[in-house]
Amino acid sequence: MRKAEKQILIKHTLVNQILTPCGISSIEYSLNPYIGCAHGCAYCYARYLLLRRGYGPEDWGKVVYIKSNAVSRLKDEIRWRRRGKVYLSSATDPYQPVEKEYRITRRLLEILVKYDWPVEILTKSTLILRDLDLIRTISDIRVGVSISVTEDFRRVFEPFASSYDERLRILERLVNVLGGKRVHVFFAPFLPVLSEYSLDTIIDDISNVGIQRLFLDKLNIKAQNWITINKALERIGISKKDFWKKAKDTAYWNKTVKDLIKKAIARRLEVNILF
Ligand code: SF4
Repeated sequence: MRKAEKQILIKHTLVNQILTPCGISSIEYSLNPYIGCAHGCAYCYARYLLLRRGYGPEDWGKVVYIKSNAVSRLKDEIRWRRRGKVYLSSATDPYQPVEKEYRITRRLLEILVKYDWPVEILTKSTLILRDLDLIRTISDIRVGVSISVTEDFRRVFEPFASSYDERLRILERLVNVLGGKRVHVFFAPFLPVLSEYSLDTIIDDISNVGIQRLFLDKLNIKAQNWITINKALERIGISKKDFWKKAKDTAYWNKTVKDLIKKAIARRLEVNILF
């Protein structure tokens, strides 16, 4: 199946700082090479970053700012900042399509490799395989691939990211190169109804490619992603009422976690709950 393609408005910007303090446990810095993300996932909550620049919630996925001085900023900051784990990335996909041409992520990685800083990467793109030559040389590395749903729903919720099967192939390759302990699945955001429907398949498939660990996070509902989630639900004929009711129901999440842990344990998968 051919992937959807679209025109992206590319802009350039300069930043004062490239390593920003990160609130995620055991990670010191976020490193976002771009502002915006052409994957344009319907549920993405990072769209507030473009609102600040005068765009609307539905422009997310259509505009990407290249941080033109990201590499020079990192070269400078890495000399005087305290060494700590760097997260690529918290508010963009470091391997979204523009990276193919601009190679900012690759050049940032080269610097991190040179200084031997610990790195964690999260992506939904096969482009990460281009940089395996660098990634395999990082002594403290962890790589996560995000999966929320299987292919039918993926086409609607994440139409411009790599397909479900491609992500399984990324995981398989990463496990072969880095070993199972340094690769995980970020099962997030868990979407009521849709991820539930995909759950058995996902657990079986990721276990079959050698994954030993998954992280689970639920949907982060912010006002700006309601519009696009609702449109996606309409396209696949899922009841919005049922979806939103479950999304806000603590008992639903408790049951979901319990079910997921049971299925994961049966496949010898370690589960880390992030909410
Ligand atoms: S890949 Fe991540 S950052 Fe990019 S649109 Fe999807 S959720 Fe947002």
